[in-house]
Amino acid sequence: MCGGLDLPAKLQVQDKSVSQETFTIAQCASCGMQFTNPRPAAGHIGRYYESAAYVSHNSAAQGLVNRVYRVARFFTMRRKVALITELNGGRVGRLLDYGCGTGHFLAQAKSSGWQVTGLEPNPGARQDAATRVGQPILETSELATLPPASFDIVTLWHVLEHVHTLHETLTQLVAALKPGGRLLIAVPNPDSLDAQHYRQDWAAYDVPRHLYHFVPATMRRLLAGHGLRITQTLPLVLDAYYVSMLSEQLRGPGQSAGPLGVLRAGLRSNQYAAQHGGQYSSLLYVAERATG
Ligand SMILES: [Zn+2]
Repeated sequence: MCGGLDLPAKLQVQDKSVSQETFTIAQCASCGMQFTNPRPAAGHIGRYYESAAYVSHNSAAQGLVNRVYRVARFFTMRRKVALITELNGGRVGRLLDYGCGTGHFLAQAKSSGWQVTGLEPNPGARQDAATRVGQPILETSELATLPPASFDIVTLWHVLEHVHTLHETLTQLVAALKPGGRLLIAVPNPDSLDAQHYRQDWAAYDVPRHLYHFVPATMRRLLAGHGLRITQTLPLVLDAYYVSMLSEQLRGPGQSAGPLGVLRAGLRSNQYAAQHGGQYSSLLYVAERATG
């Protein structure tokens, strides 16, 4: 992020869900940015997504975790659309969702009256989203071809941590925003209590698919470098439970605390966050162009 070269290792994390390989999470000594180092090149990372359980790319994924995920998704999609409408002064407008996955959020926004544009790199997910939303979904490379200053709201729901070309993509997303428009970025928070509790088994490290592990200070610095100011940081309270559930699975049957452990870990994480400066399991940053 800052070009610093002093990059000590912070944690070793195994990719237990796909490759079984171990990756280092490094933390820049000058700016504090945490990132997966080294990371697979953009041209080679595709095989790390080859899991039937990778739920955001596969609507048909089975199992209890995925059932719970879908029930939670049903409720959260409506709340997300209500939020963007509120941020847009109570009006619908033009929405760009970067990394739209299988398109559930876009479909909900469209049915609420938003004019939507979706971008998604995964061909299967893109096709699924196109069917669900009822319009073509663009490849992510088409971001550069979108008309500038044309969107009221740009969203990235658990996407920025996957993006190889971080600065280039942010520059293009900021260019796509109308004056006064808002950029919404949801990412996991490795300073949350559930991250500290599960450590190397914290599911939201998700190496090597997650290239960066943002905390509030590094997100603020990153966005400031792109002329953006964070106006709100909102909690995603369900993520504490979802991530704890996945983390218990990663621990394996011998060490898992079971469903009660999941509920306890999720609840404790949200309570801790409420008392300690909002360090929730996942955070939603709302940003606008800084003025002056
Ligand atoms: Zn740095």
